[in-house]
Amino acid sequence: MVWSLILSYLIVIIILFYAGFNFQIKNFLIRKQSFSCKRCGRCCKLLLKLNEEDIERIKTKGHKDFHVVKKGKCCMKRINDYCIFLKLNKGICSCSIYEYRPKICKKFPKLKSFGKAVYDHRCNAFKRPRFLRLF
Ligand code: SF4
Ligand code: SF4
Repeated sequence: MVWSLILSYLIVIIILFYAGFNFQIKNFLIRKQSFSCKRCGRCCKLLLKLNEEDIERIKTKGHKDFHVVKKGKCCMKRINDYCIFLKLNKGICSCSIYEYRPKICKKFPKLKSFGKAVYDHRCNAFKRPRFLRLF
């Protein structure tokens, strides 16, 4: 009886922990995989916040009307859910502003989590451990 109660508490704690930190847990678990971009464009579907530097750099290259304000944050415009600068040619994605793309795009999928270098699991280049694929 006592053991089943302890077990139930443990299960609830694990579920709550996973619910609160599942992004970080997934990133941590793939951190040792090697990265090779598949040019799938999946990352260009994520909400892309821009800073002042990014905006100025892109503007100096002659682009206008490429950003919008969403929930008080300046973000890249999208068409059909993808960044407006994404180009698709024969199934291969490329960035039409690659040389002066936003800082966040240059870093992706590298991240720092609790002081450790990890990868963003939303990148298609990584395989999530089988037991996490359901979540
Ligand atoms: S999601 Fe990952 S693999 Fe796909 S284009 Fe972006 S960086 Fe490359
Ligand atoms: S700026 Fe380029 S790399 Fe960044 S989201 Fe847009 S298309 Fe992708």
